[in-house]
Formats: sequence, structure tokens, C-alpha cells
Amino acid sequence: MWFLRPLGQKNIYKILIMKKINESFTCINCKKEIPLAAKTCRNHCPYCFTSLHVDWEIPWDRASVCHWIMKPINYEIRNWTMKILFKCTKCGKLHRNKRADDDNIQALLQLVKENQNL
Ligand SMILES: [Zn+2]
Ligand SMILES: [Zn+2]
Repeated sequence: MWFLRPLGQKNIYKILIMKKINESFTCINCKKEIPLAAKTCRNHCPYCFTSLHVDWEIPWDRASVCHWIMKPINYEIRNWTMKILFKCTKCGKLHRNKRADDDNIQALLQLVKENQNL
């Protein structure tokens, strides 16, 4: 738990978590096998953009107790980087995440349209 961790170990813990996360996995929504991300740590499916509500205030804090499915509802481009805005379908929490290089942007634009009223 967050409060059990001494402050100095926070970064070490973060690195361990990120390493663990950057693995191939099966998407819980579309059931596609998701390969390793080239540069970034993957936190959403590149095909259907399903993400899990595991972070609370900052990315990778893993402090959320929700663990529900998050869906993309919008995106923004800042400093040549695309950020996807996710919304938790259970608690409504909003989260921004960087896109991965192999994300299917065409699919994202469609999903954003569909999810606008979430
Ligand atoms: Zn998927
Ligand atoms: Zn949630």
C-alpha cells in the first residue's frame, strides 16, 4: 500500500512496477495479444484502447482501488505528443496517457466519437 512505503523507496518501487508492466499481455476487452511496446510502457490496448483504472493521482502510482475499465473519450496534442484522455466507466475518473507508437490512431478517433457521451 501507498502509505506503507517509506518515501525513499518510492522511486525504486516505481521502476520495478514499470518493468513489470511493459510485457506482452492479452487485452481484457478485445482479447488480442498485445506485444511489448517499443519505447514507452504500455498502459492501454493499441487496438481498442481499453485501459485499467489502476493509477490515482499520478501515472504509475498504482494507488487506485477501482481497477475498472477505462475508455478513451478525447485526445489532445501538445508539444507534438498526442495524449489520450481516458475515463473510468465505473467511477468516472479522468486520466491522460501518452499514445504508444503503434497505437491505431484511426481506431482511436472512431472510439472517441463513440464514447463522447460516456
Ligand atoms: Zn483491446
Ligand atoms: Zn475508476
